[in-house]
Amino acid sequence: MNQFKPIFLGRAVPGTDLAALSTACNSQKCIRAGGKHNDLDDVGRDTYHHTFFEMLGSWSFNGSYFKAEAIDMAYDLLVNVYGIDPGRLYATYFAGDEDLGLAADEEARECWTRYLPEGRVIGCSAKDNFWEVSEEMKWASPDVFLSHSPSTPRRRIVRPPPIRIRPTHEACACISDVFRLFLSSEKMGDTGPCGPCSEIHYDRIGDRDASSLVNADDPDVIEIWNLVFIQFNRDETSKLASLPARHVDTGMGLERLCSLLQGRRSNYDIDVFAPLFGAISSMSPVGPYGGLVGDDDSTLRDTAYRAVADHARTLTFALADGAVPDNEGRGYVLRRILRRATRYGQQILKCEPGFFAKLVPVVVETFGEAYPELVKNQANIIDIVMEEEQSFSTMLDRGIRYFEDEIKGEKDGEESKKVVSADKAFFLYDTLGFPIDLTELMAQEAGMTIDMVGFAAEMEAQKRRSREARLAARGMGGKRLELIAEQTSWLADGGIPATDDSSKYSWDVELDAVVRAIFTPDGFVKDGEVAKEGDAVGLILDKSSFYAEAGGQDADLGTIAFEGGGELIVSDVQTYGGYSLHSGVISGGSISPGSGVKCKVDYSRRRDVAPNHSMTHVLNSALREVLGEGCDQRGSQCNDEKLRFDFSHKSAMSPAQLRATEDFVRDVISKSLPVTSNVMPLADAKAIPGVRAMFGEVYPDPVRVVKVGDDCSVEFCGGTHVSNTAEAEAFVLTEETSVAKGIRRITALTRDSAKKAMEQGSKFEGRTAILESLVADDTPTLDKEAGALRKELDAAELSAALKSELRARIESVQKKGIEAKKRLLAQRVDKCLNGVKDEVESALSSGKRSLVLNLDIGADSKASQKVIKEVQKIAPELAFMGISEEDAGSGGKVLCFAVVPDALMKETGLKADEWLKDVLDSVGGSGGGKAGSAMGQVPQCDDVGVVIAKAESFVKDAVAVV
Ligand code: ATP
Ligand code: MG
Repeated sequence: MNQFKPIFLGRAVPGTDLAALSTACNSQKCIRAGGKHNDLDDVGRDTYHHTFFEMLGSWSFNGSYFKAEAIDMAYDLLVNVYGIDPGRLYATYFAGDEDLGLAADEEARECWTRYLPEGRVIGCSAKDNFWEVSEEMKWASPDVFLSHSPSTPRRRIVRPPPIRIRPTHEACACISDVFRLFLSSEKMGDTGPCGPCSEIHYDRIGDRDASSLVNADDPDVIEIWNLVFIQFNRDETSKLASLPARHVDTGMGLERLCSLLQGRRSNYDIDVFAPLFGAISSMSPVGPYGGLVGDDDSTLRDTAYRAVADHARTLTFALADGAVPDNEGRGYVLRRILRRATRYGQQILKCEPGFFAKLVPVVVETFGEAYPELVKNQANIIDIVMEEEQSFSTMLDRGIRYFEDEIKGEKDGEESKKVVSADKAFFLYDTLGFPIDLTELMAQEAGMTIDMVGFAAEMEAQKRRSREARLAARGMGGKRLELIAEQTSWLADGGIPATDDSSKYSWDVELDAVVRAIFTPDGFVKDGEVAKEGDAVGLILDKSSFYAEAGGQDADLGTIAFEGGGELIVSDVQTYGGYSLHSGVISGGSISPGSGVKCKVDYSRRRDVAPNHSMTHVLNSALREVLGEGCDQRGSQCNDEKLRFDFSHKSAMSPAQLRATEDFVRDVISKSLPVTSNVMPLADAKAIPGVRAMFGEVYPDPVRVVKVGDDCSVEFCGGTHVSNTAEAEAFVLTEETSVAKGIRRITALTRDSAKKAMEQGSKFEGRTAILESLVADDTPTLDKEAGALRKELDAAELSAALKSELRARIESVQKKGIEAKKRLLAQRVDKCLNGVKDEVESALSSGKRSLVLNLDIGADSKASQKVIKEVQKIAPELAFMGISEEDAGSGGKVLCFAVVPDALMKETGLKADEWLKDVLDSVGGSGGGKAGSAMGQVPQCDDVGVVIAKAESFVKDAVAVV
């Protein structure tokens, strides 16, 4: 409903399509797997909750219609259009709440009693029947909806690519495409539009009075439609005020509706689940889906079927909308769901790893016609799911074994053992990647519980460790300074207003401010007390010119000078509930609450940060230009050293794409475009053509919009920027790597760092050209030189496009060098073989029975075989050892091989392997072989003469065969 929130709050901009809207109806993709709306635990276990489902909605704005019409139309649709037996319907209404100061919703009750007997119109408490807008709704993706009112023809406001509806969908009034992602950590909002609601429940059995089963978690008496009457707004002080205009927001679960239209007792028995169950069954040896629930499903087979089918839909739909499994936030919700499915599939259904990715095409086939984004992104979704599934599968077996042996095995007998200890649950989580809810599920299956308090403490300790490490790295000596809710409320209760940080956009100012509070690792400093030299503290000021870390931009550094002398060296600035906490260590002097200070931001450092931030925006535009619209921003980080930008893209960028991206940004710098910012209402800002906002990011209203040039880039952003692109001076894209499946990361530099990288680039270009000029000379060491240059190049910081071009050129030289070397070696070997012939013949003629040959065949073992053959041809009775330096006189590698004929061995006891070992041991070489022949190497040999002398002395002294 987020797209309609401005209407509910009376903030729709007059003259816009939104303001003109009087009614609408739509279908929304809903994921309820985190936060207040979390149905994950029920999924699989019951027959009517999914983590992903389609919700059909109808809307009335500004009193176009209200309770009576909404109830009339709902009843009409269910009974007269869909033909549902009214004898099975029950309605609830809000029965009033003293605490809220609200009376019962008699109006809704009376509307219902026109259709249903009094006994089937049931008053319920605020828990079930008072509805508040949720923060999660701010996650809604751009507004795309169809609208119609009963009296006017259907009107198209913004239309997605044509949607055709499959039979199941055709049962429903209309369809569109608004994605609501109800996910983790987000909480239900404390403020916003709200009001009583009225739910319609359906009894799957019929012919009875089921009123006591309404809202009682009975699978046969389920809620199908919720009509919400928005007539209040809750303000910051939690007070309810009547809204100037009243609205209706209704939601009906498509799967529940279909289950009753198709005469099924379970949502999972409707047509859209059949192909999924078919596919799972073809991969599972435990038999087909049997529809059993609860204790009847003793092997958990059917629970697993339902969960796996549900989770396949959730993952496929969420990934198609650009979400990615990750370690935090909504990405972690998806990872948890996927791991849960993997566990159900492999442990309970005995499917092979990889089974889950095979379900993606089934979901795409079933829903692709109505949701074309599934078809478009299918390959990518399969890749991501496959990789996620495989990486977890490697841990799954270990985790299951650990659970069986270390946890479950201990259980029997002792009562205390029925609780999984926090450290074991944490080991599963931290080392084996088992999300805690998965461990909890496995514990429940084994009749156990988890020490969740202990687990939370372990998690907290881990967080603290990593934050302390971060602070230690920033010179805070491992002291953790972070305000939690308790402390920000203490500040607010003490009448301390939020920090006025409007001066953060000013440059070169020294702002006078007053210390409002001093926070230390031991709590707040009391009035009258002081913090002194060497203390690690966080200052809260009435106003500040420091930029606190936000939107991917690191915090400003600098100092806060104390009125009476001394200063705080600011090493970090973070905001908590509107309070900027300036953390650092006091250098000289002391400070107490109420003292005057001067904020001295290090603007020369900020001058290096700002261009990195501004060029991040330009880079975002450049990537769209070069790679197309499919690449979305996934994160960014900039500081005074560099900028980092993460985006969705399937494969590595080619050198040409890197070059084009770099050129685009350089061009924008050379054009000296102005960079401007403007604060405007969120709805207006969203309407700016080409505006970029991060998917899933929550933006304030009004929002700050930063523009580069006229149309180069427009982004929602609160960062500090350059005023003209020329201030960035230079730009070098130094790296493009992968951070996760389908997510790439670019690192880039501006200003002096970029110039340095450009100088590096020129140097390497020069050296590469020199290297290339050596190719013609057949320089024997060319390959080595090329190899060394390549190594240096790889470690250097320069343009990634240039790097890959130079790398290719150097590799080509290296290849030519290796070829030249081979050619030269072949010539050397030929020459050497002639020499060997002469030497062996002369040894024979002087009656020698052993010979040490100083060869010139490099360290080429193939050439050594040629030598052996040649010698054996002329002198089959001769024992010999060949010794050859890789590059004569270079002090490098030396090859050694020995041959001893049988007859000589029997007669004298000389053995090739012993001979070789004796020689190599003395010069740090290694090798091996048999008594008849052996081969080895000395990796580094300064004087080959020593090796030869050793070889000769062995045959002389030890065996006396000369
Ligand atoms: P329940 O109490 O059954 O969980 P709810 O009160 O959470 O329902 P609403 O938030 O009012 O439901 O959502 C509106 C409609 O969406 C419901 O009437 C129901 O038809 C459908 N719905 C809600 N949650 C789910 C779910 N997890 N799976 C399928 N349909 C759902
Ligand atoms: Mg619910």
